[in-house]
Amino acid sequence: MKYLNFLFAKEHRMEIIRIGIVGLASILFWMQILPFPALLVAIGFGVYSLIKTAVLELIHERKIGTELFISIAVIIGILGQEYLAAAIVLMIILIAEYIASVNTETTRASIQDLIGTIPTTTIVYRNNKETTVKIEEVRIGDLTLARTGERILVDGVVIKGTATINQAPITGENTPQEKNEDDTVYAGTIVTSGAINIQVTKLVQDTVFARIIKLVEDAEQNQAPIEKLTDKIASYLIPIVFLFVIGVYLYTRDVKMVIAVLIFTSPAELGLATPLVTISGVARAAKEGILIKGGLYLEELAKVDTFVFDKTGTLTSGIPSVHSVISYDKKYTEKEVLAFAAAADRRSSHPIAKTIVAFAMQQKVSVAEPTQFIVVHGRGVRATVKGKTVLVGNKEFFSENNIPISQEISQTTIFIAVDNSLIGAITISDTIRPEAKKAIELLRTSGVKHFYMLTGDNEKSAQTVAQAIGISEWKANLLPEEKIDYIKTLQKQGRMVAMVGDGINDAPALAQANIGLAIGASGTQAAMDVADIVLVDDNLLKIARAKAISKRSYRTIKENLFVGVGVVHVIGIILVLSHIIGPVEAAAIHLVPDVAVLLNSVKLLRVKIE
Ligand code: ADP
Ligand code: MG
Repeated sequence: MKYLNFLFAKEHRMEIIRIGIVGLASILFWMQILPFPALLVAIGFGVYSLIKTAVLELIHERKIGTELFISIAVIIGILGQEYLAAAIVLMIILIAEYIASVNTETTRASIQDLIGTIPTTTIVYRNNKETTVKIEEVRIGDLTLARTGERILVDGVVIKGTATINQAPITGENTPQEKNEDDTVYAGTIVTSGAINIQVTKLVQDTVFARIIKLVEDAEQNQAPIEKLTDKIASYLIPIVFLFVIGVYLYTRDVKMVIAVLIFTSPAELGLATPLVTISGVARAAKEGILIKGGLYLEELAKVDTFVFDKTGTLTSGIPSVHSVISYDKKYTEKEVLAFAAAADRRSSHPIAKTIVAFAMQQKVSVAEPTQFIVVHGRGVRATVKGKTVLVGNKEFFSENNIPISQEISQTTIFIAVDNSLIGAITISDTIRPEAKKAIELLRTSGVKHFYMLTGDNEKSAQTVAQAIGISEWKANLLPEEKIDYIKTLQKQGRMVAMVGDGINDAPALAQANIGLAIGASGTQAAMDVADIVLVDDNLLKIARAKAISKRSYRTIKENLFVGVGVVHVIGIILVLSHIIGPVEAAAIHLVPDVAVLLNSVKLLRVKIE
């Protein structure tokens, strides 16, 4: 239905008129009703827009497109006195171009659908007054309301009320979620029942939703390598093609054959074969809660054979829990140990730091504000609390600071020192994400051969986690730089490496890897910024989904190039040269790959991908 709307949209009226006039003129001329000059006028009218596009592309983009080929074919037809053939070829090509442009528009439209229509204003409460403001003018801290049936337009926290929310537009997750006070809600999600007051926590342009829209819109710009390759091939091919066509003419002196050859040698689908797949693939992933920052990454992810995982916050859940607090020094109670640790870690975004601070708050321990604060990535923090130097971090961090640790470690353990003497420790229980093992299995069945886990945590907890989820190679006690080096080494062995991480300390490694995947909701902004792919919710199974979608997209590109461009064109040229078909049949056959390539690409939006 929608397709029909596009087909007869106002913008296309001119194209339809052109097709009609050229078609009608051909028929009337063939029935010997129309005089010859009138046919020429009709052809001129039809070919005018093609020549215009051809010349503009040639001058501005130095690009030789289908339009040029067809214009030349038509002109050759007229010079060679094959008027009727020229007119019919022209008509069919005009139809093909028309279908192509309508198809591109419908793809864009289905992406729009997917994202949904977005309201431009919302109600906010400022100074106890209700005002309607433009969505770009919403400020952090504003209060807004979302009622049943409405789309939430901001990222924020529920401060009053209860609602059931459909998060599918953002996470692809279809089960509705119950949201109460203090829960986070995302722009783009829909209230299916209830009503909530929301306090805005992010500027509109920073919301996940805004990012999704932007990504899909930008997807065309980040060209896939194969796309650059096809552009390059096209530019080499064209001079060869022209020589070939001239050769055919000199040898056969057959104008009709030259026209037919020109139709099959035009690079039309070469230009369409990949961009459409890219848009569809990125849109499809976005629909499932996977943000892919460009077509380029679809192809790269499809080729990845090695996955490297960070541990804390990535394979284990973003919120680990405190197992025990121990005091080694009689001068300090366990509560005081916890108070120092929490105060020092107060400004850190590390998941372990957040856990310690939350635990202290929950234990009603008062958490002081540190006066100085330095993060040592992969190790811990150094802070000044109430005039004392406090060190919080792992065993390596302590030995590097000349505070040797003799205690046996059997799980993630954070040590605390005050003024250079060890006062206690906090043990942390890692909770492995429930889907981690399954995610690895799925990746393995999809053809990924090598898995590694790299962590800054100790050997013992690294081993526990890696073995529990089925990764046989791991490295513990790594600094962020060492994670990069490890990835570089893998790449030198010829591996295509994807790295999955959540923290600031993972950001350099995410950038180094061929593909960086960041954990979205509980991860850090730094990781999301450098990553090529962001998993909007923290579900690790989405990694396998991303891999599947990218493989499918890459396959579609190859199908398009092979069938659409290769087979049809090669067979076409052979048929022409062996006098089996003439220019009119050639133009008709030419429609087939046009439509096939387009349908094959758009299919990506809907088809089931295992
Ligand atoms: P992973 O590589 O597994 O994500 P990190 O490199 O982030 O782990 O951290 C490695 C180790 O360093 C942690 O297990 C912890 O012992 C220690 N650590 C890092 N940052 C902090 C912090 N802010 N507070 C306490 N300990 C920390
Ligand atoms: Mg981490």
